[in-house]
Amino acid sequence: MDTHSTFSIRPSKLPSGKVWLVGAGPGDPDLLTLKAVRILGVADVVLVDALVNGAVLVHVRQGARVVEVGKRGGCKSTAQAFIERLMIAEARAGHTVVRLKGGDPFIFGRGGEEAAALHRAGVACEIVNGITSGLAAASAAGVPLTHRDVTQGVVFVTAHAAGRDEPDWTTLVRTRMTLVVYMGVARASELQAALLEAGLAGSTPALVVENATLPRERQLRTDIGRLARDIADGGISSPAIMVIGEVARADSASDQSKNANVLVSMLSRGGASGGVLGSSNAL
Ligand code: SAH
Repeated sequence: MDTHSTFSIRPSKLPSGKVWLVGAGPGDPDLLTLKAVRILGVADVVLVDALVNGAVLVHVRQGARVVEVGKRGGCKSTAQAFIERLMIAEARAGHTVVRLKGGDPFIFGRGGEEAAALHRAGVACEIVNGITSGLAAASAAGVPLTHRDVTQGVVFVTAHAAGRDEPDWTTLVRTRMTLVVYMGVARASELQAALLEAGLAGSTPALVVENATLPRERQLRTDIGRLARDIADGGISSPAIMVIGEVARADSASDQSKNANVLVSMLSRGGASGGVLGSSNAL
């Protein structure tokens, strides 16, 4: 052993703790990765976002500190700066910190901002992917996000621009790719208007999945022309994902939603022209 190099390590260079930005997946605890389970089992501190299903916390070791740091959109949430300071302080104290986020930490979850803050602070950080809700929602309804007959790709987009510019819907519509819209249900009528204005046909199929992969999951099949009304009539609210494009056409979807005991009922508006609302709750 090289004793010289051991002596040359100054206290400030001793390994400090580390932050793991971990994806908890869309809800179903079985969709957690093995790596996430392993890291949860050794963490000293776990900072949990609001959209994380609490059931995954069974993997946290006894004695670890669990801090709930997120409230659902619209409510007061723990300030982002506070969360970042806490992660940095705990890591500098030598702790293994897990920042547990819904879905994937690098898809619309401020994971990028948090990784940058940790990097600036000189704190080691590693990402553990989770299954993002956009993927899970589509699969729950048996909808493939790409299909070589109808689309060459998929775009993950947020309809909630938080004061920033709107996405360039015209350009997106022109790509003819599947659109997977996060944080969109509260702004469904603006989204519908923007997509129609951008040239998307009103008959373009749309799938909306609320609480994907959870026992209270509900699915709504509609089209762009009726999107906002069907969402309002169905009482669909956040968290929900919208999948827009030919892949969402009901008859092209696999049988998976039927297997999941989907209850199909026509909405009580305008008879057969209404959207189809389903629930994967056991009947
Ligand atoms: N990082 C997360 C997304 C965070 S943004 C991910 O990868 O999934 C929050 C948005 O994600 C919600 O507004 C909603 O659009 C979507 N979302 C998260 N969990 C969901 C779920 N179980 N079902 C449907 N949508 C969900």
